[in-house]
Amino acid sequence: MKDLTQCVVNPSVATEGFDSLSVPVHRGSTILFANAEDYAKRGERGHAGYTYGLYGTPTTRTLEAKLTALENGAWTFLLPSGQAANSFAVLPFLQAGDRMLIADTSYPPMRDFANHDLVKFGIEVDYYDPTDVADLERRIDGRTKVVWCESPGSTTMEVQDLPAIAAVAHRHGALVSCDNSWATPLNFKPLDHGADLVTEALTKYISGHSDLLMGSLTVRNEALITPVRSALGRYGIGVSPDDASLVLRGMETLGVRMRQASEGTMMLAERLAGHPLVEQVLYPALPGSPGHAVWKRDFLGASGVFSVVFTPAATPHVQHALDVLRTFAIGASWGGTRSLMAPMPVKRNRTARPWTGEDLILRISVGLEDPSDLQDDLTAFLDDIAARTAKAPTA
Ligand SMILES: *Cc1c(COP(=O)(O)O)cnc(C)c1O
Repeated sequence: MKDLTQCVVNPSVATEGFDSLSVPVHRGSTILFANAEDYAKRGERGHAGYTYGLYGTPTTRTLEAKLTALENGAWTFLLPSGQAANSFAVLPFLQAGDRMLIADTSYPPMRDFANHDLVKFGIEVDYYDPTDVADLERRIDGRTKVVWCESPGSTTMEVQDLPAIAAVAHRHGALVSCDNSWATPLNFKPLDHGADLVTEALTKYISGHSDLLMGSLTVRNEALITPVRSALGRYGIGVSPDDASLVLRGMETLGVRMRQASEGTMMLAERLAGHPLVEQVLYPALPGSPGHAVWKRDFLGASGVFSVVFTPAATPHVQHALDVLRTFAIGASWGGTRSLMAPMPVKRNRTARPWTGEDLILRISVGLEDPSDLQDDLTAFLDDIAARTAKAPTA
């Protein structure tokens, strides 16, 4: 070979004898075939084979296999964000004239996707009360092809009775999809409780370091693989092996991170629940919190994300008091090593289960800092709200 060719062609080196604990990053768009016949028959390799970088590399397959095992599913697909996983958990299964029912407390971008895009394609979208199976029963019909769940719900944390919901949905021939980002498959396994598809925002706990975006979609059985696989190919959806390798690395510590975060969260949640400025703590693992009984029945543990509803007098001051925080950072998203607080407006467009409380709820994500620093921060924060509330003229 001439020099210019040597620059282009990589020599093959032995890989036997190099057994590293880390998963190699396999980058590639083109996949080579041994001969013309192999190339001609590449379509027969199926969803598990390698044909083109978009459809998977050994790095992404490793992450998919880990998630499939944890979810007790048949196959897992990786997508560029949690929201992309949500969209593709329903898109392949809907067509014009179909109906989709969405838990009224779902992640707001999922509502927006349904209201803007699905409706545009002639799909009818309706919302059901996530905690009332009778309400679902009233709204479901033979045209309903997908029932969307998220448990606990975004911000207001309603826990769903997934087995009961799945029984109603399946009786009407609908698939059940569940966004499991809060619990992760360590703390809840939706496929074991009747769901057909489960999504995770890997962006949050599973990658765990607030440095990437990715989502996963795991299906219950073989029949659900091809519709998703082919839709992802047509839309051109895949993920980078570099990002997948970061998720694989972060995931190795998922268990200890979740345990640490949930222990720290329980201490903060208990303290807040007893505070005079707090009306309600929404954390399913906390006895007395809404949904605690169903959480205890179905879940294996809790994560470190919860919400706080302040009294009407204190609520207007929550936003300003955030500025005294030193250990907690202010920001959206959650599930990383850093503790976060974010004031969340509760959407007034909920129809099946209207939110009648205050307009603003504080969402807290507990990270891995020393719990005493978090407690000190919380003390300063609550003291600041108390001082502002006392000073404010009474209406
Ligand atoms: C953050 C989040 C998502 C979306 O994840 P991204 O990776 O940010 O798109 C989906 N569902 C829930 C419940 C979330 O909190």
